[in-house]
Amino acid sequence: MNSCSPIASPLPRRASIGVRIGGIVVGGNAPVVVQSMTNTDTADVASTTKQVAELARAGSELVRITVNTPEAAAAVPRIRERLDMMGVDAPLIGDFHYNGHQLLSAEPACAQALAKYRINPGNVGFGKKRDVQFSTIIEFALKYEKPVRIGANWGSLDQSMLAGLMDENHARSEPWDAARVAREALIRSALDSAARAEELGLTRDRILLSCKVSGVQELIAVYRDLAVRCDYALHLGLTEAGMGSKGIVASSAALAVLLQEGIGDTIRISLTPEPNESRTREVIVAQELLQTLGLRAFTPLVTACPGCGRTTSTLFQELAKSVQDHVRAKMPEWRVKYDGVENLTLAVMGCVVNGPGESKHANIGISLPGTGETPAAPVFEDGIKTTTLRGEHIAHDFVELVENYVARRYTARH
Ligand code: SF4
Repeated sequence: MNSCSPIASPLPRRASIGVRIGGIVVGGNAPVVVQSMTNTDTADVASTTKQVAELARAGSELVRITVNTPEAAAAVPRIRERLDMMGVDAPLIGDFHYNGHQLLSAEPACAQALAKYRINPGNVGFGKKRDVQFSTIIEFALKYEKPVRIGANWGSLDQSMLAGLMDENHARSEPWDAARVAREALIRSALDSAARAEELGLTRDRILLSCKVSGVQELIAVYRDLAVRCDYALHLGLTEAGMGSKGIVASSAALAVLLQEGIGDTIRISLTPEPNESRTREVIVAQELLQTLGLRAFTPLVTACPGCGRTTSTLFQELAKSVQDHVRAKMPEWRVKYDGVENLTLAVMGCVVNGPGESKHANIGISLPGTGETPAAPVFEDGIKTTTLRGEHIAHDFVELVENYVARRYTARH
């Protein structure tokens, strides 16, 4: 089962059919699942294993890998085996385009090692071959008892579907605009493929859908529509979100609106990493999005003020960073040791204006001295001032207080 904290918020969720993917349940009443995707060459067993392990250790509950060549397909069981030996049990999802039917036929061990297959109805095959190739993949899913995500994408829209809907639209007395027709094509592509998969024998608890686009408003419109037209579990993500703050803001803006409406059973943040940036950032962003919405709790978050003309130095920024880094680094150990520690709240504030007030709202908070204030930093625990820190070692002393607080406050797991 999902190794997650309970849903912290009473937000109503759209009813969906739960799908079991390895040991993880997506949809039904399960908490929203975080997933990610590697960017290594899957045929490179060592690199892919390493990155999957990094993503899983950062908190990715499902990891998708590209399966695009015979070499990649042959590598999948070896990657699975190495991950198992390392104690990494995150289920692997195979991402197939164009040749999935051939790769699954040629590599039964790959078909078995994957916990789910992802197929794109716009790329599964063309013309007369399309239906046969789609059926072949579904038959493998039936044979190996695997779920399938039918993932339609704006960038690879089924062109025959779009052309048919354009013709239908011309015949309307009040034709839709082109964007609405394209949205409808995306949704129909996913729904029609799901219906075909069901005809072939795949049960509804083995089907997930996604309809990804790269525009925030389009994504919200597509998923609102999709959500009322089916009860399949939905994979949510803004495709090609981009790099850095642009990608984070765009993904968060779109997904937050939908999650707030109860739409979405698993999410992926499609960030383009900065050069040399760890791939795990997309996992951290996904977790922080769910946590700030109050849907799940993963890691204690630090509330920090932005600083302003009242701050005398960068001390509070450095302290906020070192506390957040410390908490992240300690979380693997704390999670095993202490029940509920992911719900811990911390505050690091820059001056007396909001410092004591915000610190009192946190489980443990510190208010640093601003310009003209006495050089002392009061610490609050559960709303009560417990001590005042002074001198050069405030950061070290505060982290020690955090450690002591965690050990006292959270019950040790047995
Ligand atoms: S708490 Fe103080 S230092 Fe921080 S932003 Fe507010 S006024 Fe500025």
